[in-house]
Order: sequence, then structure tokens, then C-alpha cells
Amino acid sequence: MGKLAGAVQERLKIMEIEEQITKYKDQGLKIFASSSFQTQSVVLLHLISKIDNSIPIYFLNTGFHFPETLEYKAELTKRFDLNVVDLFSEISKIQQRNDAGRMLYTSDPDYCCYLNKVQPLEPIMKNFDIWISGVRSDQSAVREGMSTENKAHHGVTRYHPMLGWTGKMIYEYIAKHTLPKHPLDGEGYFSIGCQPCTIKMRLSGDRDNRWYGQNKTECGIHTELVIS
Ligand code: SF4
Repeated sequence: MGKLAGAVQERLKIMEIEEQITKYKDQGLKIFASSSFQTQSVVLLHLISKIDNSIPIYFLNTGFHFPETLEYKAELTKRFDLNVVDLFSEISKIQQRNDAGRMLYTSDPDYCCYLNKVQPLEPIMKNFDIWISGVRSDQSAVREGMSTENKAHHGVTRYHPMLGWTGKMIYEYIAKHTLPKHPLDGEGYFSIGCQPCTIKMRLSGDRDNRWYGQNKTECGIHTELVIS
């Protein structure tokens, strides 16, 4: 695709997002977003800040993030004047161990993700109608099967405005708008989650740098809280 065609495609996608969020607002629907504050997140956060920066953006603060992620979150929050809300697990870290004393992220990562991500977010959904999530089709097989809108629990509709965006489009948008990148971007991390469950990228270049060596590709908020 040529440069001009690419710019037109990007503009059309942005207009679609602006129109859809405006439509939800005009219908009186209550909207929230979630973000993991990776470089991949910055485009959607930038767009939300332009459309309505009062939309709450929930960050699942597991306590296991890289310090650089928290710095990046603070930087974007300030720069875009975002309404970011941290969510924490009610289960203390000392309780997040198995019988042998091993942290759950090594002994039972599904349960660790449940306690730190799924469980804190689930009650929030009861207060809203629309959940904006920045998942993209090219990120995993699960996400490839998603639609622009999916049903989620508590009558919530998940809206996936970035679903058709590619990694290339994300980086072109970042360059065009001179947006900051996550401090670990370019350090060999493709997808950055909790520190214990993220390794530097291998040659394959997909999300297998998360939960490496385990049969796990999602934390649960994009699967357990979504119906179809
Ligand atoms: S990504 Fe790892 S550390 Fe973070 S909540 Fe899931 S299992 Fe726990």
C-alpha cells in the first residue's frame, strides 16, 4: 500500500472510532476502557484523549509490572490528561502462593491472572455499558476470532476499535504524532506484561514472549469476561 493510501486508510479508521464512541455517548451509554500501557496501547489512548478524556481507563495494577510500565503510564496520563484508575487484587501477595510456598505466577499462572486481573475488573463492568479494549487481530489466535463488538458479562458490549490495525499502522501513527514509546520498546520485548511472565522476544516475533513455555496466551480478561 502506498503512503497516500495508507494515510487515507488510517484517517478512515480514526473517523470510524470517533463516530462509534460519539454514537455510544449520544445513546447515553456508560463507557470505560482498559489498558495495559504498552507501546501498542498508545494509539488508542491518544484517540480516547481527543474524543473524550473523561472516559475512565482502568489499569490492572498487579504489583508485578516492570517499573518502566508504571513510568510510561504516568507519562501518558499526564501528557494526554487521561482519567486513569488503578485496580488492585484484594488478595495480598503473601496469600498468592501455593501450598509449597511458591508464588502463583510460577505454580498456577491462570489463577494468578484471575486474582490480579479478572477478579478486580469483573465488578467494574456492572457500572458500565461499553468496554473499549485495544486488542488487535494480529496479536493472537484468540483475538483473531474477535469481532468489532462482542458481548461481555453483565450486559456489557466490548468495543474493539483497533481490531483491524496492524503493528505497522500503530508504529506509523506513533511516528506521525511523535508519541512516546514504552521505555522497554526496542529492548527486545514485543509484548510487555507482568515482569515474571515476560521474557525478551524470540525469533518468531509473536506473543510467545509472554508465559514462555506454558500453554497460555491470554490473561483471562479477553476470554473469561467475554461471552461471544
Ligand atoms: S501475567 Fe503473570 S504475574 Fe501477572 S497476573 Fe498473570 S500470572 Fe500473575
